[in-house]
Amino acid sequence: MNELTKKFDVAVIGGGPAGMIAAGRAAELGAKVVLLEKNSALGKKLLLTGNGRCNITQIDHDARGFVEKLGHNGKFFFSAFSAFGPKEVIEFFEQKKLFTKVEKNGRVFPVTDDAIDVLSTLTQYLKDGGVEIITNAQVADFEFTKNKIGGLKLKDQIIHADRFILCTGGKSYPATGSTGDGYTWAKKLGHTIITPMPALAPVKIKENWVGDLQGLSLENASISLWQNEKKQASFQGEMLFTHFGLSGPLIINASKKINALLQNGSVTIELELFPELAIPELDKKLVLAFEKNNRKDIKNYFREILSRKMLDLILKLAEIDPDKKLNFLTKKERQKIVALLKSLKFTVSRVLEFEQAMITSGGVTLKEINPKTMQSKIIENLFFAGEILDLDGPTGGYNLQICWSTGHLAGMSSTKII
Ligand SMILES: Cc1cc2nc3c(=O)[nH]c(=O)nc-3n(C[C@H](O)[C@H](O)[C@H](O)COP(=O)(O)OP(=O)(O)OC[C@H]3O[C@@H](n4cnc5c(N)ncnc54)[C@H](O)[C@@H]3O)c2cc1C
Repeated sequence: MNELTKKFDVAVIGGGPAGMIAAGRAAELGAKVVLLEKNSALGKKLLLTGNGRCNITQIDHDARGFVEKLGHNGKFFFSAFSAFGPKEVIEFFEQKKLFTKVEKNGRVFPVTDDAIDVLSTLTQYLKDGGVEIITNAQVADFEFTKNKIGGLKLKDQIIHADRFILCTGGKSYPATGSTGDGYTWAKKLGHTIITPMPALAPVKIKENWVGDLQGLSLENASISLWQNEKKQASFQGEMLFTHFGLSGPLIINASKKINALLQNGSVTIELELFPELAIPELDKKLVLAFEKNNRKDIKNYFREILSRKMLDLILKLAEIDPDKKLNFLTKKERQKIVALLKSLKFTVSRVLEFEQAMITSGGVTLKEINPKTMQSKIIENLFFAGEILDLDGPTGGYNLQICWSTGHLAGMSSTKII
């Protein structure tokens, strides 16, 4: 095995957004840095973000609001956010001539709508700092002595450095290179790993009839998650029906909670089509509308208020002939329709696996990492950044912001006592 004669101050493992910003920041502060990436190019997953447009960050909140969106682990993120938050990220890119724009719900994109420009900007940042970038460099193991990492074992090379930043991402979209390697090493080095789970993923539904709704999108849907006859959580947003189940931002953001609930038993998703009306109000509205339109058949009246696919399904589930005239509809039939409009129930089969999940929840436990430096509390010359951490957020630019903030902080801290 060749030993690379050069010794680095900092070695960063993983050339995703967290690794690139960490390596660039350490180099900017004067460290001799190497960035190792197992793919033939950096940022393979970054290029897929935001449907290829890259939702760089999220500016709808102050620090408190942002960390609340990250759930129970959010507090860990305060220091990293304060040092390099969304404002600083936008400034960072704009100083490098990558201009940004803000879209609905505080989502920030490059004005060019192209993730490749984000990657090029970061690559230039690395080059400007003199970072040695080694691609096709799959780190296989660590050399470890006296509670310190000494080197990284590649296929035919050992790389030595004083400090190491682990940015190998999670397990989602493994085809991009994120195959969970970092969890194995972190565990071997004494860290605790919170079981990685697919999150921000579509959901497969047991009822075959869900396929009847394929392609239908509801712009502002309201759903509730039920388990053991208790409402566990509610979500609002855009929902999409697929041939196997449910997707769209609403479901993707609910998927982490659904997966957590599935650990304790079956989960039902209840869709409420007219959330603003209680059952008696909706029923009263339909009674009046039916009186007014009594010559119309059911399908023609409902087409004014429901999409064709949804109407066909509701009538199928209520076992009502769509050609029946409204004045022949019985009270029982009307009540069946009202019940389905207020509560259309889908039984969850499973949340789709890592192949379709945008992120991984779980990862290296935050209890063993110093939030002010991203340094391991177990191995003194080890730092972590990005999705490998047990920290994640909803869609909307939160997850990349986690990478920028933690990467920047890890890069900076790794140079402190060189
Ligand atoms: C389809 C999709 C769309 C998304 N859109 C958005 C969005 O618009 N906005 C947003 O905020 N988030 C988005 N995300 C989430 C975001 O992409 C991730 O949070 C982010 O990429 C995580 O960055 P990371 O650097 O921690 O890890 P990764 O991006 O996973 O990078 C880790 C790198 O480490 C390398 N690596 C792994 N093992 C080794 C090894 N043994 N040796 C050397 N290198 C190794 C991998 O090849 C990989 O390049 C999206 C995710 C997906 C899948």
